[in-house]
Amino acid sequence: MTRLIDQTWFSSIMRPSRYLGGEVNAVTKDPSEAEVSIALCFPDIYDVGMSHLGLKILYSILNSRPWLAAERVFAPWSDLEEAMRSSGFPLQSLESKKNLSDFDVVGFSLQHELCYTNVLSMLHLGRIPFFSGQRKGSDPLVIAGGPACFNPEPVADLFDAFVIGDGEEAALSICRAVREARRAGNKDREGLLKDLRHIPGIYIPSLFRVHYQPGGPVKGVEPLLQDYQEVRKAIIPDIESFPPPPAPVVPFTGLIHDRLSIEISRGCTRGCRFCQAGMIYRPVRERHPDTILRNAEEALKNTGHEDLSLLSLSCGDYQCLLPLLQALMDRFGDQRVSISLPSLRIDSLDPAWMEQIKRVRKTGFTLAPEAGNDRLRKIINKGLTHEDIITTAQQVFAAGWNLIKLYFMIGLPGERKSDLEDMVSLIREVASIAGKTGRKAKVNASVATFVPKSHTPFMWAPQLSAEEGWERINALRNSLKGSRVRLKWNSPKLSWLEGIFSRGDRRLTPALVKAWELGARFDAWDEHFAKSTWEKAFLETGISPESYLSRARPLDEVFPWEHINCGVSKGYLKKEWKKALQEMQTSDCRQQCHECGVCDHETTDPLLVSEWVPGVKPSPSSPAGFSEPQKYRLTFEKLSHARFLGHLELVRVFLRAFRRAGVQLVYSKGYHPMPKISFVTALPVGMESRVETMDVEAADAIEPLSLVREVNKQLPEGISISRAVMLGKNAGKPRLKQSGYLITLREELLKESAVAQFLHSDTWQVTKRTSKGDREVNARPLVEAIEIVSPNSLEMRIHHNSGPGLNTREIVAAIFSLSPTETAGLRIVKTDQILE
Ligand code: SF4
Repeated sequence: MTRLIDQTWFSSIMRPSRYLGGEVNAVTKDPSEAEVSIALCFPDIYDVGMSHLGLKILYSILNSRPWLAAERVFAPWSDLEEAMRSSGFPLQSLESKKNLSDFDVVGFSLQHELCYTNVLSMLHLGRIPFFSGQRKGSDPLVIAGGPACFNPEPVADLFDAFVIGDGEEAALSICRAVREARRAGNKDREGLLKDLRHIPGIYIPSLFRVHYQPGGPVKGVEPLLQDYQEVRKAIIPDIESFPPPPAPVVPFTGLIHDRLSIEISRGCTRGCRFCQAGMIYRPVRERHPDTILRNAEEALKNTGHEDLSLLSLSCGDYQCLLPLLQALMDRFGDQRVSISLPSLRIDSLDPAWMEQIKRVRKTGFTLAPEAGNDRLRKIINKGLTHEDIITTAQQVFAAGWNLIKLYFMIGLPGERKSDLEDMVSLIREVASIAGKTGRKAKVNASVATFVPKSHTPFMWAPQLSAEEGWERINALRNSLKGSRVRLKWNSPKLSWLEGIFSRGDRRLTPALVKAWELGARFDAWDEHFAKSTWEKAFLETGISPESYLSRARPLDEVFPWEHINCGVSKGYLKKEWKKALQEMQTSDCRQQCHECGVCDHETTDPLLVSEWVPGVKPSPSSPAGFSEPQKYRLTFEKLSHARFLGHLELVRVFLRAFRRAGVQLVYSKGYHPMPKISFVTALPVGMESRVETMDVEAADAIEPLSLVREVNKQLPEGISISRAVMLGKNAGKPRLKQSGYLITLREELLKESAVAQFLHSDTWQVTKRTSKGDREVNARPLVEAIEIVSPNSLEMRIHHNSGPGLNTREIVAAIFSLSPTETAGLRIVKTDQILE
């Protein structure tokens, strides 16, 4: 099998650790034992995709079935995409390194509309035809799930099927259907797709034909089968039927959200009119606190994570939050596990929670007023008053927090100029509370352009143009100049594209493909997004973006997603839209059901846990009372694919391995306590070593051999500790004096004459390229010894002095006049070292 890491160009790409696989808890099954294989594709880079809880949930559920192998595939960053494209290297999974086109099912997670060009890139690199209609029997079934699928129409022709709603049961059912078809030796792709329509929540776009008014909106959606008139979303009535992942994959590389996440509830009862998630994930279903506590225990032990995040659309509404927080803190507080609640509503904040969270760390507080005043908050049904916001800010700062992040939207329906002025006043008022703390308390305000989404009461509303968005953001910037507020914003040009596709139809697909052909990639990344590329694509495919964006829809408009039923009825959404225009509010549906249409009140109903007392007294998190802290010097090796880990990644690997092994480290004092761990050197990415050294201080004395044994059990392949020695209390950090290397070339390019010439010279000038320009360095005094040991390998010993240096690779390249490609192909293993 050809592996990505064996390519000569691999060592020169950014953050190679994203593409290695082999992380702790990754599941690689024997291909002969799994009847069905599914690639879980995330159309963004690893750092983003691995932060996403839905992917971890599906990975765990699917892999828990012995007959099913679920593997991960992420979008390669642009440098790797280019290298793969020019070398013809195909997109592979992280686990078995299987080509994407060899999977039975390829499932994409569509979290938003700005990932669509990355889907095309992944299909292209995976050698899978773009369009469902072009795929043959041997091609994988290409499916998608996630919130963007509630209006799948702009990408309907790209996918064979979509999962609308909760994915756990539906994904399993699709894989079962594929297994049955395989067992029956049935290769009829069309027949299989028709069968899938019987699975709740499965949308097969080819079984619906869309008619359009010439140059206008959709005229009608025609079902092609009598028994398949619409698609109602899949609902798991009780999320407890699928426990949270007990052992999520532990990434090497730093993620956007690098922590253990536990979903404490799904759905929301508040009914904010702008919020698509609040509508499509109804009804609310809470997970039992016992399950959460048990899962936290198990998953923290299995991952070594130091941060725990409780996820929900509105954490503060979780009925048993306070006793749950208390139980979590009692259990994990002394292990320095921090707890965050990323989505707190201001009116649900309880000062008692702050006391609990504060017990370990004060993470920044995020509050979302969304709009500048009570009038606009009534329109959006936020149900939050100016007084609520100010009181909460006072409580948060008084409890010791130094940062509040405020979230706002611009371009909400009914927004007036005075609403923006009120937004500025509100931000300034919160900032003045920060100012009165006497500390360095700060306020960050974030602004995003409102994007009307399908299946919400605001789906009839026009969207602000990108130009108007910039005007309003600039007005806010000017008004907040000189304040202690840091204003951030989402670029209106990204909202422009998101808005076009959010309410788009199948006619947008050619524009999407054209934009991809013109180079559009990573559209959710501001630095990558090129509006002009998209404008050109729309122009060349005859699309008027404005007709999707800034047009107010009449109430009788047929939407492109008319045949997708999210459970909330169109009649209810219309009523809510009219109430918004009258500035009327709708109460929380925990207080009173508004008959939105989701619940049948028999199998589907809000599921709340109203009372809970922790049943079992938490076990102590560590053996009672530590004796004396003890310092150790550890010698370890970093070989094979682990050579591609950067230094910070290596530190993270060790910290989590210590946690999983139950070895508690001593922390420094101060505001940001850090574990006491130090490395003698930071090995360059791409270099292997048999002798690296690190010092750690454990909170308790452990016999060195058992320390080595226990930590080694927790280290990923390629990294292992060979030796541990106890150090005295006052032992200082050693310095590296000399290192020995074994260097192997891909080809036989070594010449004895070059070695002889080098050894007989006093100076060997090498031009070193740095960010500050070129510099001449004499390589000769850096080399203590060099010897060719085979036609393509040599041993070399170098000095580490404090003067201007060259790395091993540069020295070898200079002695043997190697080209950049030959240099990139060097395999360097550090074999010994002298410390002083
Ligand atoms: S049917 Fe009633 S209880 Fe159920 S989600 Fe809708 S409003 Fe809430």
